[in-house]
Amino acid sequence: TDIGSQKDRVVAEEEWLRKWETGSIWFHKERGHPLLQKYLDVLLNGRSGLRIFFPLCGKAVEMKWLADMGHSVVGVEVSEKALKEFFAEHSLPYCEEPVPEISGAKKLETTSGNIALYCCNIYDLSSSIVGKFDGVWDRGALVAVNPCDRQRYVSLMITLMEKNSSYLLVTVSYDPNKHKGPPFYVPESEIKSLFG
Ligand code: SAH
Repeated sequence: TDIGSQKDRVVAEEEWLRKWETGSIWFHKERGHPLLQKYLDVLLNGRSGLRIFFPLCGKAVEMKWLADMGHSVVGVEVSEKALKEFFAEHSLPYCEEPVPEISGAKKLETTSGNIALYCCNIYDLSSSIVGKFDGVWDRGALVAVNPCDRQRYVSLMITLMEKNSSYLLVTVSYDPNKHKGPPFYVPESEIKSLFG
């Protein structure tokens, strides 16, 4: 499929912040994603007490689900409003602290420490700051990344994965000439070459 019409599109950080300010958050799923329920066993692979990463997390309710199952959740999101709404909507008390390695970044963490959300650009993170993960839930993340940044995004994700980690990726399939995105259309062949 010809993805020429999308490959040069760039959504600036300010545009995402504006979506949150104006409540244009069509991507948010109040009831969570059915595919996480369906493939939860694949993500967990018989393990318990995992560290699970949510790239470009928004206020995904699945973070609360997984934390309630005893896993430890880490997310990253540029919009502070999104993260504050997450804690407020689940009535979770949290603390806020700066991230010494990243100027302007904040870490918002539940007082019990099982959910830690970084408010910064994902490209500012590294495994020395957030550690490595046993599982990744990538929904609205790879498909939201600007097409020109895909390789950088995937390379970073690979550095954040433990040896036996599992990665659940949700993509969307449609004619990229009919919609400018995001979500962007990422062909399966490209996913294979990105992740190797
Ligand atoms: N995964 C979430 C949100 C998907 S929308 C869900 O399933 O609901 C993509 C989110 O990524 C938006 O909330 C946007 O503010 C955030 N975002 C976009 N670019 C980002 C970047 N470079 N670093 C961190 N967050 C980013």
